[in-house]
Amino acid sequence: MEIKLPDGSLKELAEGSSVADVAASIGAGLAKAALAGKINGDIVDLSESVQDGATVEIITNKSTEALDILRHSTAHVMAAAIKSLFPDAQFGIGPAIEDGFYYDIEIGRSITPEDLQTIEAKMQELVASALPFTRKVVDITEARSLFEGQPLKLELIDEMPSETVISVYSLGDFLDLCKGPHIANTGFVAAFKLTKQAGAYWRGDSERQMLQRIYGTAWFSKKDLEDYTMRIEEAEKRDHRKLGRELGIYMMDERAGVGLPLYMPNGARVIRILQEWLRRDLYKRGYEEVITPHIYNADVWKQSGHYYFYKDNMYFFQVDESEEKDMSKVSEFGLKPMNCPGHVLLYGNELRSYRDLPLRFFEFGTVYRHEMSGVVHGLLRARGFTQDDAHVFCRADQVLDEVVAMLDLVDHIMGTFGFTYTAEISTQPTKSIGDNAKWEYATDQLKLACEKHNLEYEINEGDGAFYGPKIDIKVKDAIGRTWQCSTIQVDFNFPERFELTYRTADNGQEQPWMLHRAIFGSIERFLGILIEHLSGALPLWLAPLQVAVIPIADRHNDYANEVRERLIAAGGRVEVFDQNEPMRAKIAKAQQQKVPYMLVVGDKEAESKSVSVRERKEGDVGVQLLDEFAKLIEDARI
Ligand SMILES: [Zn+2]
Ligand SMILES: [Zn+2]
Repeated sequence: MEIKLPDGSLKELAEGSSVADVAASIGAGLAKAALAGKINGDIVDLSESVQDGATVEIITNKSTEALDILRHSTAHVMAAAIKSLFPDAQFGIGPAIEDGFYYDIEIGRSITPEDLQTIEAKMQELVASALPFTRKVVDITEARSLFEGQPLKLELIDEMPSETVISVYSLGDFLDLCKGPHIANTGFVAAFKLTKQAGAYWRGDSERQMLQRIYGTAWFSKKDLEDYTMRIEEAEKRDHRKLGRELGIYMMDERAGVGLPLYMPNGARVIRILQEWLRRDLYKRGYEEVITPHIYNADVWKQSGHYYFYKDNMYFFQVDESEEKDMSKVSEFGLKPMNCPGHVLLYGNELRSYRDLPLRFFEFGTVYRHEMSGVVHGLLRARGFTQDDAHVFCRADQVLDEVVAMLDLVDHIMGTFGFTYTAEISTQPTKSIGDNAKWEYATDQLKLACEKHNLEYEINEGDGAFYGPKIDIKVKDAIGRTWQCSTIQVDFNFPERFELTYRTADNGQEQPWMLHRAIFGSIERFLGILIEHLSGALPLWLAPLQVAVIPIADRHNDYANEVRERLIAAGGRVEVFDQNEPMRAKIAKAQQQKVPYMLVVGDKEAESKSVSVRERKEGDVGVQLLDEFAKLIEDARI
C-alpha cells in the first residue's frame, strides 16, 4: 500500500503497517523520537494501523500537540500509581491542561502533601519500567464489566451513544477508559512533578460528590521542568495579592463578601491617579465624561435584554416604594454589570442630528458582576470593579475613524506601561442579531482599523457576542504571560432596543452605530496586572509614595520636614521616615514599599540645602540640590 507524508511525498509500505512502522521507514532517528501520529489529521497512537492512501504525520516532542499527549499520558501514570497505592480508589477524569494535567479521584479521605510524595515515587517506578500503553476496543457491555466498581467511569460509559467505539488502555495491570492517544510507553515521561491538590465537584456540578483533584506538570526534559518551576516561582513573587498587601493597595474581608476588594489609602491613591491621567487624555481626544446610577429599575434591564440573557451574572433586589407596605408598589432593581444603559438613556434624552456625531461618553463606572466564587481571584477577577468605560455613537461612515482612534488610545496606554500587545477579532456567531450586511460591514471596519494601525490580528471565527463583532487586545507582561485587557465592541442590540435615532442631512431618521470600549478594562484589574508586570515597582508618576525622606538623626527631622514641604509644593507624594529606628531599617522599609526615591538627610545636606539621593533600582546616585530634585518631582506630575 501507499501512504502520503506531510511534504506530499509518497511511501510504499507493507499491508497492515502501523504509524510506528511509517516512522521507522523514514529513519531510525524518527522511529526513536516518535510519540504518536496523525492519520488524515486525526491524532492516533503509534500502534494504530494505517490504511492505503492515508496522509500520515509523525508527532515528536517538537510537535505542537506533543506536550498535551505527554501530559495526558502522565495523568494515566499517576492514576496507575494511585491505584496500586490505594486499591479502592475511584477515578473520574484526567485531562491535560495548560502546563500540566490533573486527575479527579476519590480515596475516601483527603490527599495530604505526603501522599503526593508517595504517589510521585510510585510514578517514578512506573516511568523507569517503560510500561507500554496498550489499546483495546470494546463494546458497551464489555466496557461495563471492565469498569465494575468504578461508578464514575460507568456513568461516562452509560452516556456514550450505543454505536460509539469504546477504547480502553492498560498500563501494567491498571485499566483506564480513554479515547487516547497516548505516548507509546511510560519511558517518554522525562520530567514531571505533582504540584497541588484541591477539591473538585464531579463534573463541576456542586450537587454532585466532591472529589480530590491532583494537579501535576510534565515536560520533555528536566531543563524544561526547571524553567517552568522558576517561572512559577517568579510569578508567585510577583503575585499582586501578596504585593497588594505589602504595598498597602487593597484587602479582602470575608465579612464584606467574596470578590469585593477594599482599597487602602495607597490603592485609592493609585487608582485616582490612573483615572485622572486618563481623564485628561480623554478630554483631549474629544470624549465627554458622564456619571450614571449604580442601580436601575429592572425595566431598563428588560428593555436592554440583560434581564433575560445576563440575569445569572447580575444582582437584583426588591424595593418597597410605598409607605403602607403595599405589595403592588414593590419594584425590582438591578445593580449595573455594565454602564451602557445609562449612556444610551443619555443619548436618547435629546434629539440628535448627524452634526452631533460622533458623540463620545466616558465614565469611570463601578459595576458588579456575580462571578462564581470559585473563579474570583484578587483584583484579576473580582465581583466589583471600575471600568474605564466609554460608548461612542456615530454614523456608519465614522466607525472606521473611531476604531482607529481607539486603537491609538490603546497604543498610548499600553506603550506608557511598557506592554506589547496583540489583537483578536471575533466574528459573527451562529446565533446573532442584526442583519448579515451590517455584521460584514462592522467586521471589515475592525479589520481595516487594525490594518491602518499595522496591528496584526487573529480571527476568532464565530466567537463574537450575539450583538456584534469585537476586537480584544491581549497584553504581554514582563514574564511572558498574556492578559486580556481592552475591548472594542460593536453593538447592534442597544440602538435597536432603545430605538436610538439621529436626524440625517436630508431630514431623515437613521439609527446610530454604537461602539463600547474600555482600554484598561477594569482599572483595578489593570492595576493588579501592572503590579505583577513591574513587581510592584510602579513608575514615579504613579507610585503612591514617591519619596521617603530619611533623617540620619533626630536633629535632622526639621530639615527632613522642610524637604517634605518643598516636594509637596512641587506636587510630590512624600513622607518623612522619622520613626525611632536604625537608618538601615528605614531604608529596608522604603525598599519593601518600592518607593522610587529615598532622600537621606544629615548635617551636610541641611547646611547646603541638598539631599542624598538613593534611587529604588540604582541605589546611591549622589547628592543633589533640593531645588534640582524638586524639579524632577514636578516633572513627574501627570
Ligand atoms: Zn488517556
Ligand atoms: Zn457598554
